[in-house]
Amino acid sequence: MAPRKITLEESEIPTHWYNVAADMPNPTLPPLNPATREPIGPDALSPLFPAALIEQEVSSERFIEIPERVRELYTIWRPTPMFRARGLERALDTPARIYYKYEGLSPAGSHKPNTAVAQAYYNAEQGVKRITTETGAGQWGSALAFACQLFGLACEVYMVRISYDQKPYRKLMMNTWGAEVIPSPSERTAAGRQILAQDPDSPGSLGIAISEAVERAAGDEDTKYNLGSVLNHVLLHQTVIGQEALAQLEKAGEDLPDVVIAPFGGGSNFAGLAFPFLHRKLAEGAKLRAIAAEPASCPKLTRGVFRYDFGDSVGMTPLLPMYTLGHTFVPAKIHAGGLRYHGAGALVSQLLRDEIVEAVALDQLETFEAGVLFARSEGIIPAPEANHGVAVAVREAVAAKQAGEARVIVFNLCGHGHFDMAAYQDYFAGKLHRHALSQAEIDAAIAKIDTPEAG
Ligand SMILES: *Cc1c(COP(=O)(O)O)cnc(C)c1O
Repeated sequence: MAPRKITLEESEIPTHWYNVAADMPNPTLPPLNPATREPIGPDALSPLFPAALIEQEVSSERFIEIPERVRELYTIWRPTPMFRARGLERALDTPARIYYKYEGLSPAGSHKPNTAVAQAYYNAEQGVKRITTETGAGQWGSALAFACQLFGLACEVYMVRISYDQKPYRKLMMNTWGAEVIPSPSERTAAGRQILAQDPDSPGSLGIAISEAVERAAGDEDTKYNLGSVLNHVLLHQTVIGQEALAQLEKAGEDLPDVVIAPFGGGSNFAGLAFPFLHRKLAEGAKLRAIAAEPASCPKLTRGVFRYDFGDSVGMTPLLPMYTLGHTFVPAKIHAGGLRYHGAGALVSQLLRDEIVEAVALDQLETFEAGVLFARSEGIIPAPEANHGVAVAVREAVAAKQAGEARVIVFNLCGHGHFDMAAYQDYFAGKLHRHALSQAEIDAAIAKIDTPEAG
């Protein structure tokens, strides 16, 4: 019998990250200065990011070498295993062969340390002393706290007040790794003080937390700001996932899969799995589909518009070309907090526009049904975000059965759900409801967008 778990040696951790920009038929449009609306050069970003990351952000080199120190630290959790989902195949009675890459074995429990460690490394190399960031539910904050501690960097995390109060365990993980976690809005920044003056009991928002973290980095030589998704260099660092997956499929005796699937928030875990497969498609003409799975309550890829928009909700960042619902769009409070982002990274947006990748939107009830089926057939309890990928894999396996075809399906199980059991509790209590936006709600969100047309 073929093995359930397909593993690699530490020596098989990729030596390079793969940059999809080198193979794209159409390049991404340049970022714009929000004031002048002229294209900005790389140096506009230098108050916030170290030079090496800015270089990666605009690079068109196909393969970028992973520093030896980063590869060495990757061995803490990499290579991650790939599993043949025999239990799920049996439960679905499908002729499809389903594989999943499991990123939940990292110390923070998701794929995010793949970029956090790289970002901390380049900041430390440049002599930066402190990194600031924002976090909502805490996945990114905990990945960055872990990474900063490896390099002796101070880490200041602005955590949305309501999550800070309601989700103490992610905060305590960050504290355990030595990070300072500040409920946002805070008295520490002008942005925070301004909000608190208007509303001392403000629950905070990701947009406010970004403003605070950026203000701290912009105002201090020794401090930089880091982001956990969306940007090109973040997507680049995640491509270790797909490169390992390619090697593991080959080890399992498979050719290229028919379809690769991943959940989609800003694009990093989707890019991480899919981009190395797209290299085979774009450079070698391989026929495979890559599907991004987004929530029906935040459907920027399937129902948004391709426009220039801000990366944050306040409107401080450069304007980036992306599929978006508008930076002021506030999605419903679904449990997959990591997927509640208004826009999408520029690389994935351009690939979607060129019909090289696909997207589907899923109702959260369907995702939890799939997640519970997965936990009961495979054992691992997925993060609510990861359930979106599981649900599309289930749909594809059912379609393979209907077609009577032994298709090969690969998906990214990007994190475990051990800190998200309250979401499962709500699901079991029947408190989750089907929710999709009406066309009127979508139209209203899009009508509010006042940023420039793209292309
Ligand atoms: C952050 C996060 C996401 C969404 O972000 P992407 O950049 O789209 O990957 C999805 N799943 C998990 C487990 C996360 O932590």
